[in-house]
Amino acid sequence: MRGFFSFATVLSAALLIATVILWVRSYWRYSEVGQPFSLSSDSWSVASWSGEIRLRHYPNPQSKWGPEYESRRWGIYVYAGNDIRGAGSGFYCHEWRIAYWFVAVFLLLLPATFAAHRIFRRAEIGRCACCGYDLRATPDQCPECGTKIFHA
Ligand SMILES: [Zn+2]
Repeated sequence: MRGFFSFATVLSAALLIATVILWVRSYWRYSEVGQPFSLSSDSWSVASWSGEIRLRHYPNPQSKWGPEYESRRWGIYVYAGNDIRGAGSGFYCHEWRIAYWFVAVFLLLLPATFAAHRIFRRAEIGRCACCGYDLRATPDQCPECGTKIFHA
């Protein structure tokens, strides 16, 4: 299994751990970065709350309202309309939410996809699926790691 813990795998594992920590944390603590609201300019913020990451955008509040919109599909929520924080400020905002579980599933599938792709690609070019050793001289068993090769 040499080469399995590639950079991509380690990176997604680290991101997965960070995601799970933030996920659990989001149920007991609201945190927000960026500029949550400004009367004079376009402002953006990212918040973590209740199992979701929320990206909020306030276009310049002096400008006119845009269309209202709401949609929830899978772990993704898209909203445009009245700022629903507090009693409703009456300002127009855009909001995108992504569930932590959705991010976690993506991060779990990413290294699995890379590994599967690498194994299929190695089989195609006559290399060992485990270690990538060239099998042209020994097509039945890998001399490097001992994996037996089955031919269809
Ligand atoms: Zn091998």
